[in-house]
Amino acid sequence: MRALRWHGKHDVRCDTVPDPVIEDGRDAIVKVSTCAICGSDLHLFDGLMPTMEHGDILGHEFMGEVVEVGRETRNLKPGDRVVVPFTIVCGECDQCMRGNFSVCERSNRNREKAEKVFGHTTAGLFGYSHLTGGYAGGQAEYVRVPFAERTHIKVPDGLSDERLLFLSDILPTGWQAAVQCEIQPTDTVAIWGAGPVGQMAVRSAVMLGAKQVIVIDRVPERLVMASGGGAIPINFDEESVLDRLKELTNGKGPEKCIDAVGMESHVSRSLDSMYDRVKQAVMLETDRPHVLREMIYVCRPAGTLSIPGVYGGVLDKIPFGAAMNKGLTFRMGQTHVNRWTSDLLRRIEEGQIDPSFVITHTVPLEEGPAMYKTFREKADGCIKVVLKP
Ligand code: NAD
Ligand code: ZN
Ligand code: ZN
Repeated sequence: MRALRWHGKHDVRCDTVPDPVIEDGRDAIVKVSTCAICGSDLHLFDGLMPTMEHGDILGHEFMGEVVEVGRETRNLKPGDRVVVPFTIVCGECDQCMRGNFSVCERSNRNREKAEKVFGHTTAGLFGYSHLTGGYAGGQAEYVRVPFAERTHIKVPDGLSDERLLFLSDILPTGWQAAVQCEIQPTDTVAIWGAGPVGQMAVRSAVMLGAKQVIVIDRVPERLVMASGGGAIPINFDEESVLDRLKELTNGKGPEKCIDAVGMESHVSRSLDSMYDRVKQAVMLETDRPHVLREMIYVCRPAGTLSIPGVYGGVLDKIPFGAAMNKGLTFRMGQTHVNRWTSDLLRRIEEGQIDPSFVITHTVPLEEGPAMYKTFREKADGCIKVVLKP
């Protein structure tokens, strides 16, 4: 089959590889009809996530048709149409029972590695380094889905792939980011990053009844798209984020702040990014936490910082004293996809939300390598790339 594989920093290729096979009774094989490139894939593309290996198959947003199931996969059969959540879940461990799916205790087959680095294991993820299990991803014609009885979302016919695909990741990610803010009708929610996750967070914060939603980025078409969803845009290349946020909140600061940027933030008006870039380059720091610093500084005391943006390792110069003394609440994590699935699928079916608005590019899988570059460079108005194997 054809699959997009990682061969090192800025080197993704469409290769011919063996088809996946059932390795365990709890597996299923899915023939991928549609998949996508995520902002998280860019961290791999940029060589910032450790434990990637040459030849790893990428991709954790995909859907398709079940073509084969293992002996112990009882609730799926060939022909079923499924979206696959990016977090692999056993459905039976203590964390899964509590709905904390992204920290499933059993699905990461390299759990000793994760325990060493993080103190505990986290869930297995598709196409996302050997720290999270080294599972082949879904930017491919076929993919093996481990723990398939629970690692799937059955979806109805009659709705297009484009409407359903983002149940795999960015829709529940934006949604969880907003839910974790516990939005009150009097709240201003400020969202850093108008990429696909920021776009879903904007729609979610509006649906959850925020008084005012503000979005911060510097890519004009992304700001326009977020405005269309009900957000007030701030272009951080043209205005002071801190001044504008104060202005829009009568000097108080937003009650709720969402970091939909993560470890690769950019900055134009202050020097701290240069400092971070140098430290990142010489491996003294793994992440560039400019957005976190800005959120801590501007958030109204007793407010909440919700962090879906991915961080990988060690961060420097976080003003923790400000966070502590202002009494801020931090909520974060990889998304507990299955926790939100039935609610979000219903909202899609009822037409409350159609996540396909975010798609700007649809191309064959073979064009995936070029699209990694286009998406990374935000060239050609690219906001979200969908691939057809
Ligand atoms: P993206 O790279 O397309 O979007 C990031 C956006 O942030 C870009 O538009 C960029 O211009 C903007 N940005 C950069 N620096 C900024 C700054 N200082 N202030 C404001 N905006 C800034 O990626 P995406 O797909 O939207 O993903 C966003 C983040 O969410 C990534 O870190 C990704 O890894 C993460 N993510 C997390 C989960 C999860 O489960 N928690 C799931 C999906 C994605
Ligand atoms: Zn993702
Ligand atoms: Zn589990």
